[in-house]
Amino acid sequence: MAYTASKTRYDQMKYNRCGNSGLLLPAVSLGLWHNFGDVNDFPIMKNILLRAFDLGITHFDLANNYGPPPGSAESNLKKVLHSDLAPHRDELVISTKAGYDMWDGPYGEWGSRKYLMASLDQSLKRMGLDYVDIFYSHRPDPNTPLEETMTALHHTVQQGKALYVGISNYTAEQTSMAVDILERLGTPCLIHQPRYNMFDRWVENGLLDVLEKRGVGCIPFSPLAQGLLTDRYLKGIPDDSRIGGASIFLGEEALDPGTMVKVKALNQHAEQRGQTLAQMALAWILNRKQVTSVLIGASSVKQLEANVATLFKLEFTKDELAYIDNILV
Ligand code: NDP
Repeated sequence: MAYTASKTRYDQMKYNRCGNSGLLLPAVSLGLWHNFGDVNDFPIMKNILLRAFDLGITHFDLANNYGPPPGSAESNLKKVLHSDLAPHRDELVISTKAGYDMWDGPYGEWGSRKYLMASLDQSLKRMGLDYVDIFYSHRPDPNTPLEETMTALHHTVQQGKALYVGISNYTAEQTSMAVDILERLGTPCLIHQPRYNMFDRWVENGLLDVLEKRGVGCIPFSPLAQGLLTDRYLKGIPDDSRIGGASIFLGEEALDPGTMVKVKALNQHAEQRGQTLAQMALAWILNRKQVTSVLIGASSVKQLEANVATLFKLEFTKDELAYIDNILV
């Protein structure tokens, strides 16, 4: 049956301003790193994307290498755009990135102008788009001058292939320098995409301060620690879970006894709040004033819906935050 977007899609989602920019992002955004490759079931991913849009999720995050195989998440998004979402292109913020290993030879990764420009052209082709809304440098390159990487980002905007630019996985110091260069070039840094969750709080040691001071937005990735901060592994390892499947990014060793003690204590507190652990973990991140949006992954519509329902309870008391800090030490 042909898809008709829900008329109520903007009724419940919260939209936050991204740094000092004019762009609003949904408090919950959807990433296509896992579950959207050619190894996955197409009807399921299509349902997730359409349900996300119906729930007010206007932002889909990709990268050149998402799959597997690399590139297939972008090709699969193209199919869903073509069949259903293309009429809504101006309601969508689509991002992609280049930085990790994508093709053979010396020009297929890191941060050279040669790689970034070619990669964005390839991504646009795979997605069937004229432009992306945000183009990211996926990781800092220790061997390419930052000036070269930032100038390449700036030129993608000048060429009309990206509307905004961002950086991902840059330290606080690298971020300051990148923001300076982009500012000088006249293309402000829109957003930073760092890993941030209850188990990985590195951004609290300087990066969040830099982002706030410089008016750059923040969209934390893996806010659920790839599923650890949910009830997914409380009773073992389900076959259809990230650990139970073929992911090379999360293994059984992540479920060490120390971590599981914390997960159980957090789960108990979430229950007392009347939320699931996943919802509490997302609300905890959204509680930071510097955070624009949480960038979740989902392997089912049910997970997606549950995560969006986080928005019904975002507040924490000071005592609660201290209690959670105590569990996390
Ligand atoms: P999450 O931490 O949100 O983990 C998502 C996984 O958690 C799901 O696939 C699912 O696992 C599980 N999950 C989600 N919701 C629930 C729920 N309500 N109940 C139970 N389990 C749940 O994020 P990801 O690690 O997937 O990363 C999100 C996005 O961040 C990526 O798609 C990508 O866009 C971006 N990213 C960026 C990186 C970068 O370097 N810039 C690096 C990594 C990610 P299961 O499959 O087991 O069901």
